[in-house]
Amino acid sequence: MTTSRIPGFYNLPLDERLDKLAEAAGVARADIIALQTAHGLMDEQADHMVENAVGTFALPLGIGLNFIVNGREVLVPMAIEEPSVVAGASFMAKLARSGGGFTASMSAPEMIGQMQVLDIKDLMAASLRLYEHKAELLAEADAVDPLLKKFGGGARDLEVRIIEESPIGAFLVLHLIYDVRDAMGANAVNTACEKLGAHVEELTGGRVHLKILSNLADRRLAKVQCTIPVKELAFGEGDPAGHPYSGEQVRDGIIEAWAFAAADLYRAATHNKGIMNGVDAVVIATGNDWRAIEAGAHAYAARDGRYTSLSTWSRDTQGNLTGELEMPMAVGIIGGATKVHPAAIAALKLMGVQTAAELAGIIVSVGLAQNLAALRALATEGIQRGHMSLHARQVAIAAGAVGDQIEQVAAQMVAEKTVRIDLAERIMKSLQ
Ligand code: NAD
Repeated sequence: MTTSRIPGFYNLPLDERLDKLAEAAGVARADIIALQTAHGLMDEQADHMVENAVGTFALPLGIGLNFIVNGREVLVPMAIEEPSVVAGASFMAKLARSGGGFTASMSAPEMIGQMQVLDIKDLMAASLRLYEHKAELLAEADAVDPLLKKFGGGARDLEVRIIEESPIGAFLVLHLIYDVRDAMGANAVNTACEKLGAHVEELTGGRVHLKILSNLADRRLAKVQCTIPVKELAFGEGDPAGHPYSGEQVRDGIIEAWAFAAADLYRAATHNKGIMNGVDAVVIATGNDWRAIEAGAHAYAARDGRYTSLSTWSRDTQGNLTGELEMPMAVGIIGGATKVHPAAIAALKLMGVQTAAELAGIIVSVGLAQNLAALRALATEGIQRGHMSLHARQVAIAAGAVGDQIEQVAAQMVAEKTVRIDLAERIMKSLQ
């Protein structure tokens, strides 16, 4: 990768954007051609992926520009239907660049497999017995996936939990901690749990019911931090039509907006949704399981019994704005659809990631950038202004506009400061 800064990228025709992208990323055009729908997932491939396939469902794929993650320039593929997300993330990545970019870190790629053990008479005695036989249980789980073991993964630990109260009374839960290296790990962990079932029944005298991965991957956390120099936050100054905001004003407004999410459930849901706008877009583009990431994110946001913001924003000793995001990040570059979907393969190639940890670091960086984009807009001119022209184009298309009409109808609605389908239809009529 040479640079993630491509000035004027948005002005180029789609095909030329691909050329620029290949050039900036230092990859062959053929390696990323699958990012274009015509070269992406084919119906025949889809037929092997799900049941009753009749076709594929496309989403726009945009490129997050300007990102530097752990000192490395990275162009980020983002699959998303919502306007403003790609632009917002790219713009905030540009601000973050001036503070050195994003610094990300990952804990070990350890997933948790759960076994629900029912019909146990003495839960404490059963727990002790499991701990006494921990070494042999771990060895058994470790032997399940020789390929994973070859790459340095495998069983790491066992934890026993007693659920005291439930609609069916008390029962025991065994957690198998499994290092899945560069895989998302669901299949690997589920297979290991299923293998251990009989041995656990024998040791506890109970009945092993569920054997399944937990999507609360709180041992597989990705953390990212960025600092935005306060002067970079100023905008609109000297613009008589706009609103001038000083850097300090924007910084403090962002911190106040974050505090709302930190303290209030209703706001926290929307705040985290903004983070997921960025996170999901990359997760989807790389063929990863976004339901798993969503489930993990929201469960983690409520880990202390109260749902709250996944990110924090504060002022550092120099008066700059600093943000942090920590969340579970169970993504892979091996397994699932990541090595099957041609666009996902191209997406990984474009980013030049070598490990799942590296991908996770990029994803949380985009999440934090997207969070900042929303907070900055909300704390200043409101979300609709930036959103309006892109939203207007979608409404124009929904009203039946095609070709040049799309821009004409959208521009008229923005000028009238009203973006509604009935207005779009009226403008269409007046054009005809
Ligand atoms: P997988 O089984 O397709 O691939 C993982 C396997 O690849 C490993 O077990 C290992 O044998 C092999 N491998 C080769 N090189 C490796 C390396 N460097 N690092 C790690 N493994 C390597 O996929 P998976 O990641 O176990 O499962 C992911 C899929 O499971 C996703 O499609 C997901 O949607 C699905 N799934 C999710 C859930 C859930 O989230 N609750 C449940 C079931 C299935």
